[in-house]
Order: sequence, then C-alpha cells, then structure tokens
Amino acid sequence: MTILQVTQATKRFGGFTAINNVTLSVEAGATHAVIGPNGAGKTTLFNLISGMVAPDAGDVHFQGRKLGRMRPHDIVKIGMARSFQKVNVFPRKTAFENVQVALIANAGLNYSFLRSAAGLFRGEAMALLDLVQLAGDAARRAGELAHGKQKQLELAVALAADPKMLLLDEPTAGMSIAETKASIRLIREIVARRGLTLLFTEHDMNVVFEIASTISVLHHGEIIADGAPDAVRENEDVKRIYLGK
Ligand code: ADP
Repeated sequence: MTILQVTQATKRFGGFTAINNVTLSVEAGATHAVIGPNGAGKTTLFNLISGMVAPDAGDVHFQGRKLGRMRPHDIVKIGMARSFQKVNVFPRKTAFENVQVALIANAGLNYSFLRSAAGLFRGEAMALLDLVQLAGDAARRAGELAHGKQKQLELAVALAADPKMLLLDEPTAGMSIAETKASIRLIREIVARRGLTLLFTEHDMNVVFEIASTISVLHHGEIIADGAPDAVRENEDVKRIYLGK
C-alpha cells in the first residue's frame, strides 16, 4: 500500500528548476532513502512533501489525501512528522519540557496553559524520552546535551505528534561514528516498534545501505533510479554519476 505519493512535482526558484517532474511512491512500512549529491534537490523535495514550500506543478498525496496548500502543522496533524538537518529544539528548555510542549501543541492546547499545568502530559513525555533513551536527561536543558542526544530529543519531539510517517533529513549529520551507530539502531527500533514508515535523506552510504528497504536517487532535481538497494547500487547511471565508479 502506498502511503505517500508525489506525482510529477516541479519546484523552481526563479529560473532554476530544483525539482523537475518528480514522481515518487513510498510504501507503508518502508524505510525509504532519498540520496543524491549536494544540491540534487533532496531538501527541496522534503520541503514540498511536508508543506514548507508549494510545488509549481504536481501533487502530493499522503494516505490518499491530496495535500494541496495544506500548511505544515496541519500535515503534522494528519500523521507526517519531520525533523531537520540542523538541530531544532528549544535550547533553554529542559528535554522534558521540549517534549511536553510538543505534546501540548499537538493536542491543540494553548502553550501559555503550560504555566498553570506544568505536570501536563508528564507520563506521555517521560515515555517518549524513555523511548529515545533520554529518560536520564529529562531535567537537563536541551542546549546542554551532546549533539547526538539533541537529535534523540528531536526524534521524541517528532514522535509526540504520534505520526504514521517520519521524514528525517540527514538524521546522522554531524555525529561521530559511535553516535551514528547508536542513532541508527535507535531509529530502526522505533520505526519497527511503532510500525512507522520512514523517509530519510542521508549522505553516509553505509547508513543508507544498512537501513533502507528502498532507495530513490535524485540528480539535478530528477529521479534517476528507484528501487531495492541492490538494484540501485548496480544501476549504471548511479554508479557513474553518484558513486563515482
Ligand atoms: P540537497 O538537499 O540535495 O543538497 P537542495 O534541495 O538544498 O539540495 O537544493 C537544490 C538546489 O536548489 C540547490 O542548487 C539550491 O541552491 C537551490 N535552492 C534551494 N532552495 C532555494 C531557495 N530558497 N532559493 C533559491 N535556490 C534554492
């Protein structure tokens, strides 16, 4: 079953075409990687999918529903959560508060309500911190956590929306080898345990081939190959253009 369908999507910035007539299907339950050299259009494609930018042509359907001009926070509400390349947490709030604020926002409550109800969603927030192995850091300020832990926190914040699908833009960017390994293990475990669909970009090919069930290769804004990892690895265009062989 297809959970996400991008159909003939095009995005231009002035005279420059960043995404050119891209069609992409993501199957429910897949761990689907979008790879390609710098500037290939990966982030722009994610921005189109998550409603951050509007396509000039084409459509995005999520769970059979056309997203059209739906706004990013409404797309989150229907089950698609996203994290970014740059860490995106409130640095002066504690890890617990970061998750709590996300839970409050996703419940449609007013943030200012928090002051009068600091215990709100305590159990849920702690369960999410536990899931990303940050329970021991709940009371620490997010900005004081190591980079790898901040990424774990971002994951908990994304999961606070109770998504069906996760979009992760370079989840291991800036991580050490040890952090990368731990992070990959954690992401796989959470995706499997929660039955999530994962769409991710990643520059580290070891990570890609370790976790992707499907790979789409972007080059100059176009999909040049799409399919199972082994087939993509053996694709002549991919070898020539991307893997440098
Ligand atoms: P990737 O994530 O694969 O590195 P991007 O999607 O970030 O690629 O960028 C694709 C191309 O689109 C790049 O050439 C980039 O400079 C251009 N681009 C991205 N966003 C904008 C923008 N807001 N305005 C102008 N050009 C942009």
